[in-house]
Amino acid sequence: MTTHGPTGNPAGFAGQHITVAGLGVSGISAARALAGLGASVTVVDGGDGDKQRAAARELTAQGITVRLGDGDTLPEGTELVVTSPGWKPDSPLFAAAAAAGVDVVGDVEIAWRLRGPGAAAWLAVTGTNGKTTTVRMLASILAAEGLRTLAVGNIGTPIIDVVLGQGKDGEPPYDVLAVELSSYQLHWAPSLRAHSGAVLNLAPDHLDWHGSMQAYAADKGRIYEGNTVACVYNAADKATEDLVREADVEEGCRAIGFTLGTPGPSQLGVVDGILVDRAFVENRQQQAQELAEVSDVTPPAPHNIANALAAAALARAFGVRPTAVRDGLRAFHPDAHRIQHVAELDGVTYIDDSKATNTHAAEASLAAYEHIVWIAGGLAKGATFDELVQKSAARLRGVVLIGADRALIAEALARHAPDVPVVDLDRTDTGAMPEAVREATRLARPGDTVLLAPACASMDMFVNYNKRGEAFAEAVGELTARDH
Ligand code: ADP
Repeated sequence: MTTHGPTGNPAGFAGQHITVAGLGVSGISAARALAGLGASVTVVDGGDGDKQRAAARELTAQGITVRLGDGDTLPEGTELVVTSPGWKPDSPLFAAAAAAGVDVVGDVEIAWRLRGPGAAAWLAVTGTNGKTTTVRMLASILAAEGLRTLAVGNIGTPIIDVVLGQGKDGEPPYDVLAVELSSYQLHWAPSLRAHSGAVLNLAPDHLDWHGSMQAYAADKGRIYEGNTVACVYNAADKATEDLVREADVEEGCRAIGFTLGTPGPSQLGVVDGILVDRAFVENRQQQAQELAEVSDVTPPAPHNIANALAAAALARAFGVRPTAVRDGLRAFHPDAHRIQHVAELDGVTYIDDSKATNTHAAEASLAAYEHIVWIAGGLAKGATFDELVQKSAARLRGVVLIGADRALIAEALARHAPDVPVVDLDRTDTGAMPEAVREATRLARPGDTVLLAPACASMDMFVNYNKRGEAFAEAVGELTARDH
C-alpha cells in the first residue's frame, strides 16, 4: 500500500464528441446525461432489432445520433468512448479507439467525473459474491445513522442519474453513497477514488471477459485506488489482502480486515456470537467495541456474517456509531432469491438461493446447512465442480440435477460423493422445476433443507435467476403433505 496526494478531475463534457457503445440501460442513461451536458453524442450498437430501433427513435428525438448494425467502427471525430459493461475489452471499437488515441471509459467513470465540490462520498464494494447484499446492508446502516444515502451502482438507478440528480427539485443532496461496483465497471473507471473500498472475496468468474484470473483480480483491486480512510479486505481470502498491498492510497488510509474468527488489531470479527470492531476504537491493542449480535443478521449464514462485517467496516470508516450498525443490520432484509426461506413442510425447510449462479456462491450456501437435498445445474460457464462437491459431500442427503450442464456435476459427484443418491432429471425445459422439487422432497428427511443453489446460470431453462427462483417457490407451493 503506497500513498499519494489528492487529484482533481474536471468533467468538461460540453462540446465534446462522445461515442457511447451499447444501447442498453447504462448506454441510454449515459447518452442522455452527456447530451444534457452539451456533448455531441453518437450511440453505436451492433444490433438492429425492434427493441434497438424503438430506443433509437427516442434518443434521436432528443438530438442524439444513433447508428445501429455497426458496433465496430469508430465514428469520425470521436474524442471519448463511453462503454457499456457487456462490451468486452477486446471489442474492435476499442482497438479503433486505441489506434486513434481516444480514451475508453464506463458509466462509473463519467459519474465520478461529474461529482461537484462537496459531493457525497462513495463507500464502494466489489467481490465475486455478496456485493448487492453488502451494499444494501451498508445503506441500511448509514440510514440508521440518520445519513441521506442510497445503494447505487450495479443496483437500480444508473449511477450517472443519481449523481446528476443530486440536490435537484429542492431535495437535500446525499451525504454518502453505498456503491456496488462490478469488475467491468472498475475496469473502465481509471480515476475513481472512493472514500473507502472493500473487496469481499475473489473466485474465478467472468474470466472469458477479463482474459485471466490475474486481470480479473487487478480490476477488482482498482476499488482501493486512492482510498482515503480504509481499504477493507477479507482476512480469510489472502488475494483480497494482496490487492490492498498493491494499491496506491491516500496518506493515512488504513488496511482493515474482517474475519469470522476473533479479530486482531485493525480487524472486525466475531467473538462469542457478537460482531466486534477492533479497528475503529481508541486502543485497538486492548479494546474491542461490540457492534451487533450474529442473530441481528438475516440470514445468519457464515458468508452473510462476513458481508455484515464488511458493511460494518465501511460504515465505521465513515464514522457511524456502533448502535447504528446494529439497528441497520436488524432493519436489513435480503433481496429475493438469496437464501430466501420459502416454506417449511413436514419438518423440511425449502430455501431458494437461485442467485447462486457460480460455484463460489453455491459453496457458501451449502456450508450454511447441515443436511441438504441439493437442486443444482444449469449453464456452467466453464466452471468445474470437483472442489465444490468435495467440500460439500458430507452435507448432502441427495442431489437432483437439472439443466444443460448437469453431467459435469454428476461426474464430480460420482468422483467425490459416490454414496450420495443422485436423481438426474435429464430435462432442460422450464417445466422441470415441479418434478425437481418433488424428487428432492422424496429424498429429504425431517430436519433437512431442500436447497436450490444451482452453481450455474439459469438461461438454458429460464429467462433469468429470478424466474428460476419463482418457479422453485411455485413448485414448493404445489406440494402437499402427501408428497412426504
Ligand atoms: P452479487 O451482487 O455479488 O452477485 P449477492 O449479494 O446478490 O452478490 O449474492 C449472490 C450469491 O452469492 C447469493 O447466492 C449468495 O448466497 C452468495 N453469497 C452472498 N455473499 C457471499 C459471500 N460473502 N461469499 C460467498 N457467497 C456469497
